[in-house]
Amino acid sequence: EAKSRGRNNVRYFSLAIRDALAQRTSLARDLRSAVDNNELRDYYQPIICLRTGRIVKGETLMRWQHPTRGLISPTLFIPVAEETGEIIRMGDWIFRQAAQNALKWQSLAGDEFAISVNKSPMQFIDPSTMSDDWIQLLHTLGVDGRRIVVEITEGLLLDPDPIVEQRLLHFRDRGIQVAIDDFGTGYSSLSYLSKFDIDYLKIDQSFTRNLNEGNESYVLCEAIIVMAHKLGLKVIAEGVETALQRNLLRDIHCDYAQGFFYSPPVPADVFEDLLKADSQQNMTRA
Ligand code: C2E
Ligand code: MG
Ligand code: MG
Ligand code: MG
Repeated sequence: EAKSRGRNNVRYFSLAIRDALAQRTSLARDLRSAVDNNELRDYYQPIICLRTGRIVKGETLMRWQHPTRGLISPTLFIPVAEETGEIIRMGDWIFRQAAQNALKWQSLAGDEFAISVNKSPMQFIDPSTMSDDWIQLLHTLGVDGRRIVVEITEGLLLDPDPIVEQRLLHFRDRGIQVAIDDFGTGYSSLSYLSKFDIDYLKIDQSFTRNLNEGNESYVLCEAIIVMAHKLGLKVIAEGVETALQRNLLRDIHCDYAQGFFYSPPVPADVFEDLLKADSQQNMTRA
Protein backbone atom coordinates (compact mmCIF):
# COMPACT_ATOMS: atom_id res chain seq x y z
CA GLU A 1 0.00 0.00 0.00
CA ALA A 2 2.80 2.36 0.95
CA LYS A 3 4.45 1.47 -2.32
CA SER A 4 1.46 2.47 -4.47
CA ARG A 5 1.11 5.71 -2.51
CA GLY A 6 4.76 6.36 -3.28
CA ARG A 7 4.12 5.71 -6.94
CA ASN A 8 1.15 8.07 -6.86
CA ASN A 9 3.27 10.78 -5.27
CA VAL A 10 5.83 10.42 -8.02
CA ARG A 11 3.03 10.66 -10.55
CA TYR A 12 1.59 13.84 -9.00
CA PHE A 13 5.05 15.27 -8.68
CA SER A 14 5.87 14.75 -12.34
CA LEU A 15 2.47 16.17 -13.36
CA ALA A 16 3.22 19.26 -11.30
CA ILE A 17 6.59 19.64 -12.99
CA ARG A 18 5.00 19.16 -16.38
CA ASP A 19 2.43 21.88 -15.62
CA ALA A 20 5.11 24.23 -14.37
CA LEU A 21 7.20 23.65 -17.49
CA ALA A 22 4.21 24.11 -19.79
CA GLN A 23 3.39 27.35 -17.98
CA ARG A 24 6.96 28.59 -18.34
CA THR A 25 7.08 27.70 -22.02
CA SER A 26 3.85 29.55 -22.76
CA LEU A 27 4.94 32.57 -20.71
CA ALA A 28 8.27 32.61 -22.56
CA ARG A 29 6.45 32.52 -25.91
CA ASP A 30 3.97 35.27 -24.97
CA LEU A 31 6.74 37.44 -23.53
CA ARG A 32 8.39 37.71 -26.93
CA SER A 33 5.55 39.92 -28.18
CA ALA A 34 4.85 41.72 -24.89
CA VAL A 35 6.98 44.80 -25.66
CA ASP A 36 5.72 45.18 -29.24
CA ASN A 37 2.08 44.68 -28.20
CA ASN A 38 2.35 47.33 -25.47
CA GLU A 39 1.52 44.85 -22.75
CA LEU A 40 4.14 45.99 -20.23
CA ARG A 41 3.22 48.51 -17.54
CA ASP A 42 5.48 50.69 -15.45
CA TYR A 43 4.28 51.06 -11.86
CA TYR A 44 5.84 53.35 -9.27
CA GLN A 45 6.10 53.05 -5.52
CA PRO A 46 6.86 56.13 -3.38
CA ILE A 47 9.98 56.21 -1.21
CA ILE A 48 9.54 58.39 1.87
CA CYS A 49 12.11 60.39 3.82
CA LEU A 50 11.72 59.24 7.43
CA ARG A 51 12.90 62.58 8.79
CA THR A 52 10.37 64.75 6.91
CA GLY A 53 7.67 62.23 5.98
CA ARG A 54 7.77 63.45 2.40
CA ILE A 55 7.90 61.48 -0.84
CA VAL A 56 11.45 62.01 -2.07
CA LYS A 57 11.93 59.19 -4.57
CA GLY A 58 10.15 56.37 -6.36
CA GLU A 59 10.90 52.84 -7.53
CA THR A 60 9.77 51.61 -10.95
CA LEU A 61 8.28 48.13 -10.87
CA MET A 62 7.27 46.23 -13.98
CA ARG A 63 3.88 44.61 -14.56
CA TRP A 64 2.64 42.58 -17.49
CA GLN A 65 -0.90 43.06 -18.72
CA HIS A 66 -1.34 39.66 -20.35
CA PRO A 67 -4.12 39.53 -22.98
CA THR A 68 -5.85 36.56 -21.32
CA ARG A 69 -4.27 36.07 -17.90
CA GLY A 70 -4.61 39.64 -16.63
CA LEU A 71 -1.97 41.55 -14.69
CA ILE A 72 1.03 39.27 -14.02
CA SER A 73 3.56 39.80 -11.21
CA PRO A 74 7.24 40.27 -12.06
CA THR A 75 8.14 37.49 -9.62
CA LEU A 76 6.53 35.17 -12.21
CA PHE A 77 7.77 36.62 -15.49
CA ILE A 78 11.15 38.25 -14.70
CA PRO A 79 12.89 34.87 -14.13
CA VAL A 80 11.49 33.65 -17.47
CA ALA A 81 12.58 36.86 -19.21
CA GLU A 82 16.07 36.44 -17.74
CA GLU A 83 16.23 32.88 -19.01
CA THR A 84 15.19 33.78 -22.57
CA GLY A 85 17.16 37.04 -22.75
CA GLU A 86 13.96 39.03 -23.33
CA ILE A 87 14.81 40.97 -20.16
CA ILE A 88 17.20 43.10 -22.24
CA ARG A 89 14.44 44.58 -24.39
CA MET A 90 12.00 44.78 -21.50
CA GLY A 91 14.61 46.48 -19.35
CA ASP A 92 15.34 49.05 -22.04
CA TRP A 93 11.62 49.75 -22.34
CA ILE A 94 11.08 50.38 -18.63
CA PHE A 95 14.27 52.41 -18.34
CA ARG A 96 12.91 54.81 -20.97
CA GLN A 97 9.56 55.12 -19.16
CA ALA A 98 11.32 55.75 -15.86
CA ALA A 99 13.65 58.36 -17.37
CA GLN A 100 10.79 60.24 -19.06
CA ASN A 101 8.79 60.29 -15.84
CA ALA A 102 11.78 61.31 -13.73
CA LEU A 103 12.10 64.36 -15.99
CA LYS A 104 8.37 65.10 -15.86
CA TRP A 105 8.16 64.79 -12.06
CA GLN A 106 11.36 66.44 -10.91
CA SER A 107 9.72 69.85 -10.53
CA LEU A 108 6.95 68.34 -8.36
CA ALA A 109 9.38 66.96 -5.80
CA GLY A 110 12.44 68.08 -3.85
CA ASP A 111 16.08 68.38 -4.82
CA GLU A 112 16.93 64.77 -4.12
CA PHE A 113 14.14 63.38 -6.28
CA ALA A 114 15.13 60.26 -8.23
CA ILE A 115 13.47 57.26 -9.80
CA SER A 116 15.08 53.89 -9.29
CA VAL A 117 15.11 51.10 -11.83
CA ASN A 118 15.81 47.41 -11.17
CA LYS A 119 18.52 45.82 -13.31
CA SER A 120 19.06 42.08 -13.61
CA PRO A 121 22.69 40.90 -13.61
CA MET A 122 22.27 39.92 -17.25
CA GLN A 123 21.54 43.55 -18.19
CA PHE A 124 24.98 44.41 -16.87
CA ILE A 125 27.02 41.57 -18.20
CA ASP A 126 25.45 40.86 -21.59
CA PRO A 127 27.84 42.34 -24.18
CA SER A 128 24.95 43.28 -26.50
CA THR A 129 23.69 45.84 -24.01
CA MET A 130 25.75 48.92 -23.55
CA SER A 131 25.63 51.15 -20.54
CA ASP A 132 26.41 53.79 -23.18
CA ASP A 133 22.91 53.25 -24.58
CA TRP A 134 21.30 54.14 -21.27
CA ILE A 135 23.56 57.13 -20.81
CA GLN A 136 22.90 58.23 -24.39
CA LEU A 137 19.16 57.89 -23.82
CA LEU A 138 19.31 60.10 -20.72
CA HIS A 139 21.28 62.63 -22.73
CA THR A 140 18.78 62.56 -25.62
CA LEU A 141 15.82 62.96 -23.26
CA GLY A 142 17.61 65.67 -21.30
CA VAL A 143 17.50 63.77 -18.02
CA ASP A 144 20.09 64.56 -15.37
CA GLY A 145 21.85 61.34 -14.29
CA ARG A 146 21.21 62.28 -10.67
CA ARG A 147 17.50 61.60 -11.26
CA ILE A 148 18.20 57.90 -11.79
CA VAL A 149 19.09 55.18 -9.29
CA VAL A 150 20.07 51.76 -10.61
CA GLU A 151 19.10 48.90 -8.27
CA ILE A 152 21.30 45.82 -8.41
CA THR A 153 21.71 42.80 -6.16
CA GLU A 154 24.76 41.77 -4.18
CA GLY A 155 25.45 38.79 -6.44
CA LEU A 156 26.40 41.04 -9.35
CA LEU A 157 29.19 42.65 -7.33
CA LEU A 158 30.71 39.26 -6.61
CA ASP A 159 31.01 38.60 -10.35
CA PRO A 160 34.71 38.90 -11.22
CA ASP A 161 33.93 40.17 -14.75
CA PRO A 162 35.62 43.61 -15.01
CA ILE A 163 32.70 44.88 -17.10
CA VAL A 164 30.66 45.19 -13.89
CA GLU A 165 33.07 47.68 -12.37
CA GLN A 166 33.52 49.51 -15.69
CA ARG A 167 29.80 50.02 -16.11
CA LEU A 168 29.30 51.11 -12.54
CA LEU A 169 32.09 53.66 -12.92
CA HIS A 170 30.57 54.82 -16.17
CA PHE A 171 27.25 55.41 -14.41
CA ARG A 172 29.01 57.14 -11.57
CA ASP A 173 30.65 59.56 -14.01
CA ARG A 174 27.20 60.63 -15.18
CA GLY A 175 25.83 61.11 -11.67
CA ILE A 176 23.66 57.98 -11.81
CA GLN A 177 23.30 56.51 -8.31
CA VAL A 178 23.52 52.86 -7.31
CA ALA A 179 21.49 50.93 -4.73
CA ILE A 180 22.00 47.40 -3.41
CA ASP A 181 18.58 45.74 -3.44
CA ASP A 182 17.45 43.03 -0.99
CA PHE A 183 20.47 43.76 1.19
CA GLY A 184 21.25 41.11 3.78
CA THR A 185 19.67 38.14 2.03
CA GLY A 186 22.32 36.97 -0.39
CA TYR A 187 25.93 36.86 0.57
CA SER A 188 28.04 37.18 3.65
CA SER A 189 30.94 39.04 2.07
CA LEU A 190 30.81 42.78 2.67
CA SER A 191 34.11 43.55 0.96
CA TYR A 192 32.33 44.82 -2.14
CA LEU A 193 30.98 47.76 -0.13
CA SER A 194 34.45 49.29 -0.05
CA LYS A 195 35.41 48.17 -3.55
CA PHE A 196 32.47 49.82 -5.34
CA ASP A 197 30.99 53.26 -5.00
CA ILE A 198 27.47 52.56 -3.72
CA ASP A 199 24.90 55.16 -2.67
CA TYR A 200 22.11 53.18 -0.98
CA LEU A 201 21.49 49.91 0.81
CA LYS A 202 17.93 48.62 0.63
CA ILE A 203 17.15 46.52 3.69
CA ASP A 204 15.22 43.47 2.56
CA GLN A 205 11.57 43.12 3.55
CA SER A 206 12.29 39.94 5.50
CA PHE A 207 14.02 42.09 8.14
CA THR A 208 11.36 44.80 8.14
CA ARG A 209 8.53 42.27 8.42
CA ASN A 210 9.83 40.83 11.69
CA LEU A 211 10.88 44.12 13.21
CA ASN A 212 10.06 44.50 16.91
CA GLU A 213 11.66 46.54 19.69
CA GLY A 214 15.00 44.93 20.55
CA ASN A 215 14.50 41.66 18.67
CA GLU A 216 16.95 40.01 16.26
CA SER A 217 15.70 41.85 13.14
CA TYR A 218 15.87 45.13 15.05
CA VAL A 219 19.49 44.49 16.02
CA LEU A 220 20.38 43.53 12.46
CA CYS A 221 18.68 46.61 10.98
CA GLU A 222 20.39 48.85 13.50
CA ALA A 223 23.79 47.30 12.71
CA ILE A 224 23.25 47.66 8.96
CA ILE A 225 22.27 51.32 9.38
CA VAL A 226 25.25 52.18 11.61
CA MET A 227 27.64 50.46 9.21
CA ALA A 228 26.08 52.09 6.14
CA HIS A 229 26.26 55.56 7.64
CA LYS A 230 29.89 55.11 8.62
CA LEU A 231 30.60 54.12 5.01
CA GLY A 232 28.71 57.16 3.75
CA LEU A 233 25.70 55.23 2.42
CA LYS A 234 22.01 55.91 2.95
CA VAL A 235 19.54 53.21 3.90
CA ILE A 236 16.11 52.47 2.46
CA ALA A 237 13.88 50.00 4.33
CA GLU A 238 11.64 47.94 2.05
CA GLY A 239 8.30 46.40 2.91
CA VAL A 240 7.21 48.85 5.63
CA GLU A 241 3.60 47.89 6.37
CA THR A 242 2.86 49.26 9.85
CA ALA A 243 3.25 52.43 11.90
CA LEU A 244 5.26 50.43 14.45
CA GLN A 245 7.80 49.41 11.82
CA ARG A 246 7.99 53.02 10.62
CA ASN A 247 8.56 54.28 14.17
CA LEU A 248 11.23 51.72 15.00
CA LEU A 249 13.09 52.44 11.76
CA ARG A 250 12.95 56.15 12.50
CA ASP A 251 14.32 55.49 16.01
CA ILE A 252 17.36 53.72 14.60
CA HIS A 253 17.94 56.53 12.06
CA CYS A 254 16.95 54.71 8.89
CA ASP A 255 16.91 57.34 6.10
CA TYR A 256 14.04 56.21 3.87
CA ALA A 257 11.08 53.84 3.89
CA GLN A 258 9.01 52.18 1.22
CA GLY A 259 6.01 49.90 1.62
CA PHE A 260 2.27 49.32 1.74
CA PHE A 261 2.05 51.50 4.89
CA TYR A 262 2.57 54.45 2.55
CA SER A 263 1.44 53.14 -0.81
CA PRO A 264 1.60 50.03 -3.00
CA PRO A 265 3.18 50.41 -6.46
CA VAL A 266 0.72 52.44 -8.59
CA PRO A 267 0.41 53.50 -12.27
CA ALA A 268 2.28 56.66 -13.32
CA ASP A 269 -0.75 58.99 -13.23
CA VAL A 270 -1.61 57.91 -9.69
CA PHE A 271 2.01 58.37 -8.59
CA GLU A 272 1.94 61.86 -10.04
CA ASP A 273 -1.19 62.64 -8.00
CA LEU A 274 0.56 61.36 -4.86
CA LEU A 275 3.51 63.66 -5.57
CA LYS A 276 1.22 66.65 -6.13
CA ALA A 277 -0.80 65.98 -2.98
CA ASP A 278 2.43 65.60 -1.02
CA SER A 279 3.87 68.94 -2.16
CA GLN A 280 0.49 70.63 -1.61
CA GLN A 281 0.37 69.31 1.95
CA ASN A 282 3.87 70.52 2.55
CA MET A 283 2.99 73.99 1.32
CA THR A 284 0.03 74.30 3.70
CA ARG A 285 2.17 72.94 6.53
CA ALA A 286 4.89 75.50 5.90
P1 C2E B 1 12.27 44.42 -5.53
O1 C2E B 1 13.03 45.27 -6.45
O2 C2E B 1 12.93 44.05 -4.24
O3 C2E B 1 10.91 45.19 -5.31
C1 C2E B 1 10.20 45.23 -4.09
C2 C2E B 1 8.99 44.33 -4.13
O4 C2E B 1 8.29 44.43 -2.88
C3 C2E B 1 7.95 44.72 -5.18
O5 C2E B 1 7.37 43.51 -5.65
C4 C2E B 1 6.93 45.51 -4.37
O6 C2E B 1 5.64 45.54 -4.96
C5 C2E B 1 6.93 44.75 -3.10
N1 C2E B 1 6.50 45.53 -1.95
C6 C2E B 1 6.57 46.87 -1.79
N2 C2E B 1 6.11 47.25 -0.58
C7 C2E B 1 5.73 46.11 0.05
C8 C2E B 1 5.16 45.83 1.35
O7 C2E B 1 4.93 46.71 2.17
N3 C2E B 1 4.92 44.52 1.63
C9 C2E B 1 5.18 43.52 0.76
N4 C2E B 1 4.89 42.28 1.12
N5 C2E B 1 5.71 43.74 -0.47
C10 C2E B 1 5.97 45.02 -0.82
P2 C2E B 1 7.07 43.29 -7.19
O8 C2E B 1 6.60 44.56 -7.79
O9 C2E B 1 6.22 42.07 -7.29
O10 C2E B 1 8.50 42.97 -7.79
C11 C2E B 1 9.19 41.81 -7.42
C12 C2E B 1 10.61 41.81 -7.93
O11 C2E B 1 10.64 41.73 -9.34
C13 C2E B 1 11.38 43.08 -7.58
O12 C2E B 1 11.84 43.03 -6.25
C14 C2E B 1 12.49 43.03 -8.60
O13 C2E B 1 13.53 42.18 -8.18
C15 C2E B 1 11.79 42.40 -9.80
N6 C2E B 1 11.43 43.46 -10.75
C16 C2E B 1 10.33 44.26 -10.77
N7 C2E B 1 10.36 45.12 -11.80
C17 C2E B 1 11.53 44.88 -12.47
C18 C2E B 1 12.16 45.45 -13.64
O14 C2E B 1 11.69 46.41 -14.28
N8 C2E B 1 13.36 44.90 -14.04
C19 C2E B 1 13.94 43.87 -13.34
N9 C2E B 1 15.12 43.39 -13.80
N10 C2E B 1 13.39 43.31 -12.24
C20 C2E B 1 12.20 43.82 -11.80
MG1 MG C 1 14.12 46.92 -6.24
MG1 MG D 1 14.02 44.38 -2.73
MG1 MG E 1 14.97 42.25 -5.92
